[in-house]
Amino acid sequence: MIVISLGPERRVDPGEDELGRDRVGYGPTMSPTALYDACHGTWHLGERAQRERFALMTCDGVGVLAVAIDRVEPAPGGDEGREGARRSVIHGAVLTPGHAVHDAYVGKPSPLPPQRNPVGYFDAPEERSPCLCGCGEGTPAGKDFVTGHDQTAVHDRIRQLGGVRGFLAWFDRAHGHWPGINVIYEPVTLDGTPTGKPPRRRHLAGCDHHHTDDAGRILNPIRPATREEMASLPPCKDCVTAAAKAASGG
Ligand SMILES: [Zn+2]
Ligand SMILES: [Zn+2]
Repeated sequence: MIVISLGPERRVDPGEDELGRDRVGYGPTMSPTALYDACHGTWHLGERAQRERFALMTCDGVGVLAVAIDRVEPAPGGDEGREGARRSVIHGAVLTPGHAVHDAYVGKPSPLPPQRNPVGYFDAPEERSPCLCGCGEGTPAGKDFVTGHDQTAVHDRIRQLGGVRGFLAWFDRAHGHWPGINVIYEPVTLDGTPTGKPPRRRHLAGCDHHHTDDAGRILNPIRPATREEMASLPPCKDCVTAAAKAASGG
């Protein structure tokens, strides 16, 4: 949860304000919509903001507005040249009484102690989702696993196949080991009929811009590229990007 502590309402010049507003901050007579307009931007937000599901605005240590985040975007007209200088705007829906997050935080003491930086983060229980390893614990916002549980889950499965050697043999048999951009999706028409034309690109296994049926299954027959195709066919650009991203750990 992004927690932003607001100052009192003050007038600003709409010509100067990045969002064209005439006031920012918190005023006790503002409606929730007016308050949202006055406080959903513009803020210096870290990368973590992209994973958070809720934003809480506070004033004088008390929650005054809760927002379900739809997206966090760079403020319009910011200084794009200076990395890190860019401010962001939070877009989302104002939460109303009856929503668990509204009821837990609005009108209640801020979950964070007072701090110098107006923007802070709180690991809210409402944002946690069940860890995909099946342990029953909740993950931090935007994460699939509790830290380390992905590793444990993988190693559990390797152990079930008698260790790495057994696991590799099973994987290669069940899935096929195609680590490079060396997969051919045979060209098909929209209904899945092979066109008989030669393929034009090679891909990573799992490349997603192929024809699919209603259930999302890929219609193109898939096979490893031949040695000749590896030499003659260019790799798909999306797959090159995906492979580079995977190699850099991101
Ligand atoms: Zn777990
Ligand atoms: Zn591709």
